[in-house]
Amino acid sequence: MPASTRIRFVLVGTQHPGNIGAAARAMKTMGLARLVLVAPEKPLDEVALRRSAGAEDLLGDAPVFATLAEAVADCRLVLGCTARSRRVQLEELLPEVAGQRAVAKASEEGGEVAFVFGRERTGLTNEELQLCHLAVHIPSNPEFSSLNLAAAVQVLAYEVRMAVLEGQAQPEREPGYGEAPASHAQLEGLFGQFGETLDAIDFHKGRAPESALRKLRRLFMKADLSEQEVRLLRGILADAQRMARLASEGRN
Ligand code: SAH
Repeated sequence: MPASTRIRFVLVGTQHPGNIGAAARAMKTMGLARLVLVAPEKPLDEVALRRSAGAEDLLGDAPVFATLAEAVADCRLVLGCTARSRRVQLEELLPEVAGQRAVAKASEEGGEVAFVFGRERTGLTNEELQLCHLAVHIPSNPEFSSLNLAAAVQVLAYEVRMAVLEGQAQPEREPGYGEAPASHAQLEGLFGQFGETLDAIDFHKGRAPESALRKLRRLFMKADLSEQEVRLLRGILADAQRMARLASEGRN
């Protein structure tokens, strides 16, 4: 079962049905389908339907609960989204980290996860926030920190999607995936040949060679090279050395 099916977005006490429609749209664009409502102020209407722009299936499927406690009763991780930073004694996460934690938890068997969003005017109550394991704050302008409800839903839904895609893409993304990583000795061989080649092409021009070699060493250490990649680089260096030799023979 994909992780995203274990992630629900819970809207608490929403005042404008239009925002519920827009939230459904925001979720569906990011591949999320589980919208849950807690005591909405008004029933879903024409505006909600219009603002959902084709995500009315999410509206139709959305269960409605009387309290937040009931809506998250079976959850293993509950993330409370709050426009006001540091209001409660909860660890506060950036949206990106929250997305990653949610997807990690939802990848476990039975790892139900909820993102909880508050009322347009007053947000979540302290009691509601206390039902959450962690708070999530979108680092907005401190003097104007409150996003529209559906805009906040969009940001979190996007981060969930990124975390899902990241999980799927991992194997292909790693450099030289499937190739054996270069050994320490192979890297030292590469660095040694780099030193000789830079001399041969007169790269240093009187400067101390250590600085350039140190930077190159750092660059290649970061690059997590495979054996094949080291061979390719050494082949290029060997050709550069050969050309330098030919050039100096031509001069003599
Ligand atoms: N005036 C309310 C803001 C409500 S906005 C308040 O001060 O709390 C409606 C909901 O959108 C919020 O309850 C929250 O869940 C979400 N939201 C809005 N801005 C946010 C932000 N910067 N970070 C995280 N969630 C936010």
